[in-house]
Amino acid sequence: MMRSHRAGDLRPEHRGEQVTVCGWVDGHRDHGGVVFVDLRDIAGVVQVVLDPQHVQGADPHAVRSEFVLRVTGLVRDRPDGTINTELPSGAIEVAAEQVEVLNASDPTPIPIDERAEVDEVLRLRHRYLDLRGQRMQSNLRLRALVTRTLRKELDERGFIEIETPLLIASTPEGARDFVVPARLAPGSFYALPQSPQLFKQLLMVGGMDRYYQVARCLRDEDPRADRQFEFTQLDAEMSFADAEDVMEVIGAVVAAAIEAATGEPAPAVERITWHDAMERYGTDKPDLRFGLELVDVSEVFAATEFRAFQADAVKAIRVPDGGDFARNRLDGLIERAKSLGAEGLVWMRVQEGGVLDAPVAKFLSEAECIGLVDCTAAEPGDLLLLVSGDRSLVRRVLGTIRLDLGRPPVGEGPMRLAWVVDFPLFEAVDDDGNPVPAHHPFTTPHPDDLELLASASGPALLAVRSLAYDLVLDGWELGSGSVRIHRADLQQQIFELLGISPEQAQARFGFLLDAFRYGAPPHAGFAFGIDRLVMILCGEENIREVIAFPKTQSGADPLTGAPTPLEAVQLTELGLNVRPPTKKGG
Ligand code: ASP
Repeated sequence: MMRSHRAGDLRPEHRGEQVTVCGWVDGHRDHGGVVFVDLRDIAGVVQVVLDPQHVQGADPHAVRSEFVLRVTGLVRDRPDGTINTELPSGAIEVAAEQVEVLNASDPTPIPIDERAEVDEVLRLRHRYLDLRGQRMQSNLRLRALVTRTLRKELDERGFIEIETPLLIASTPEGARDFVVPARLAPGSFYALPQSPQLFKQLLMVGGMDRYYQVARCLRDEDPRADRQFEFTQLDAEMSFADAEDVMEVIGAVVAAAIEAATGEPAPAVERITWHDAMERYGTDKPDLRFGLELVDVSEVFAATEFRAFQADAVKAIRVPDGGDFARNRLDGLIERAKSLGAEGLVWMRVQEGGVLDAPVAKFLSEAECIGLVDCTAAEPGDLLLLVSGDRSLVRRVLGTIRLDLGRPPVGEGPMRLAWVVDFPLFEAVDDDGNPVPAHHPFTTPHPDDLELLASASGPALLAVRSLAYDLVLDGWELGSGSVRIHRADLQQQIFELLGISPEQAQARFGFLLDAFRYGAPPHAGFAFGIDRLVMILCGEENIREVIAFPKTQSGADPLTGAPTPLEAVQLTELGLNVRPPTKKGG
């Protein structure tokens, strides 16, 4: 064996033992005599004492940072007064008898484990050094623990792990595909999966009953703090199951992963309808860790003379004790509301006796002032922030301002996990008058809304609910799922509504419609982002911190240089001609 112990595992109980450890020189103190080395490996750090008088092998004075050493020696107590209580191994040290330099290291271009100052591109270019730091090591370990727990929980519940192909025909999840040219079929392309959606449904038709996969998915959308081109989902599907069955299983496995990661009981999974979430938090992924809920005060101003409040909706946020917000902070909120598309934002300070101190107070009737205080349960010293206009705009603007005002940092405060249910079937109507699916086109309409679905058209269709549900953790959308359509006639009807002609449907999804003709079982499923879950559990603000080799904000990999142009011979082989780019995406 190359080593007897991991360096960072050594403890006082190893005192008196002869050990061999390997690792990197984390730091070294060389005062010309004895050399002290902090030797680092995956388990942590231990102090090694290299006394040139006694040590065999390499010259202790030649040792430098990040050299790779193999040290054999005796574990002994550190002398009194030199114990380091910050370090788990801080009571002991290894008195080296033999030291071997397994490899030297050039001075590193980035420090190990000191983040703040280092340019991100430089850090990603030398990711292997960044990975040596304690932060990335513990993040990736926690990630492995989460994945292991998810697998175990699903295995125990009768799910079968099945791999689905990477080179596929496009699956619509609403994003742009990454495509791969097919050498054997020049002019044709595979799509890389945005999700295994259609395959997991086909697995249900194939009688696999319960499937899961730790699935790599690719979507060509602009990367941002919580999104990369490539990401990993826990993807699952269940036969003979409805929404409740899926929510129970997924809620339990996510809870188990949270418990494994935090060592504490997971929060109970709450439930809120999409409509309530939008009305009270202005978003379909509410962060329930704090209040500042949106209160609908439209009724109070139903007959108002005040022009600004003669609108589709008026909503308010009560900021407890916000009455002392300075004028420039209030001006900042007004600017923020305008930048989000609102006409403006109205603020009012609540005083004793429910009197409102605000530039607009003179335009409001007494009944309106009383009604407003009543509706918002405002107390003296509070601040009220109001936005009016189109309902969806008001929700969005105040929902964003709510987050600006009160959102705790990632990982802070007791976690709040919630299912958002009863999503609308369609999220918009496009310029051709066709509805756009809110989830994907394989989602079952809510059984109570089937009549509406048959009779409505245009924007009226937006009221049709679906059997789709999202799981939200601390205001982050972990993932989505739905009860699927499993009958060819209903699927065909939805395709038609979406403006996909029977010919197009046959060409793109004929294989699915065909499969549905041979006894497709009722089925439902879910998928959630493992990267995002781990990011929250690690308390990280950026998903890159929980991915071993992520890309930058512009989708580049500074380490390998990807993406790169193809060699002419490869282009020829693939039958491709590359036009010089004209403009971005041109
Ligand atoms: N395929 C969906 C997604 O990736 C999840 C699901 O419906 O199961 O968002």
